[in-house]
Amino acid sequence: MSQPFDREWDVAVAAVRQAAALCRDVQRELKGAVLEKDDKSPVTIADFGSQALICRALQDAFPSDPVIGEEDAAALREEGQSKLLARVAEHVSRHAPGATAERACAWIDRGGAQAFSSRFWTLDPIDGTKGFLRGEQYAVALALLVDGQVTVAAVACPNLPPQAGPETGDGVIFSAVRGRGAWTEPLSGGPRGAIRARASGDAAQARYCESVESRHSSQSDAARVAEALGIVLPPRRLDSMAKYALVARGEADLYMRLPTGAKYQEKIWDHAAGALVATEAGATVSDIEGKPLDFTHGRELLKNRGILTTNGPLHRRALEAIRNLPRA
Ligand code: AMP
Ligand code: MG
Repeated sequence: MSQPFDREWDVAVAAVRQAAALCRDVQRELKGAVLEKDDKSPVTIADFGSQALICRALQDAFPSDPVIGEEDAAALREEGQSKLLARVAEHVSRHAPGATAERACAWIDRGGAQAFSSRFWTLDPIDGTKGFLRGEQYAVALALLVDGQVTVAAVACPNLPPQAGPETGDGVIFSAVRGRGAWTEPLSGGPRGAIRARASGDAAQARYCESVESRHSSQSDAARVAEALGIVLPPRRLDSMAKYALVARGEADLYMRLPTGAKYQEKIWDHAAGALVATEAGATVSDIEGKPLDFTHGRELLKNRGILTTNGPLHRRALEAIRNLPRA
């Protein structure tokens, strides 16, 4: 029998799968064609193409749902960007036959909602842009929020193996529905299986993961926390929301995202989907003060600082170690 949010779950998984296929095509063909945007973070053709395809899928299935996405098409519409736009449209049209540049821009702009509402989607068309450009880990992440709660999540990790083990592989999709568990399936298709975090408080066996980019998370503070907990294994560094997924499938025990001192407010699309996959797998997600993530303030996690995701048993001790960090 069908259950609430089954359709949202199917649509979300199919949408991130299609967007991931576009990203892979671009990654194969494109070498370093990057557009600068105001905040200087790299934005690729795949970023726009991914957002276009996912917003198109959401428009078809749930036309009245707002989407808070990372991108808008303003930069693409600028004079001098017509070549870039044509390439976006070309990639999009492989999956959406007949798509024009104008249609692609209109789909991208559907992701331009700003404000909190009782039901909305949030989208990171490519999370971990730097990993994408390095040919390493990145993710396509989509989440549905209902009354401020992350309710459905789909995260495609095109360069992560379907099973825990090697650092890179053929791609996997993680998904979750609130109250119904977290799931994994190969990106190329195949059976969906449940995942669980590793519920162990044994720090001697524990592994933590963190950003590759030391500007995104303080690696020195994370090393101090690890030492205080008695963790001896080296960290696994990888880009994107894939870090939540590693905790969710028991491949890592902590994901620390510790403020660097620079003024930065975390964005909802970087965390909503990953946080649901992790919590539905039995992991614990909070900010670094132990507060739950609060998705009710528009585009940013205005009321939270940093992120701590753990397998559960290590959470309280990790929060304490973070609290005891020497202040800069
Ligand atoms: P990661 O791959 O985990 O390093 O995170 C990538 C995400 O970090 C991007 O999607 C950005 O939105 C986000 N980001 C950008 N600048 C910062 C910063 N100073 N601190 C934390 N996150 C950031
Ligand atoms: Mg991101």
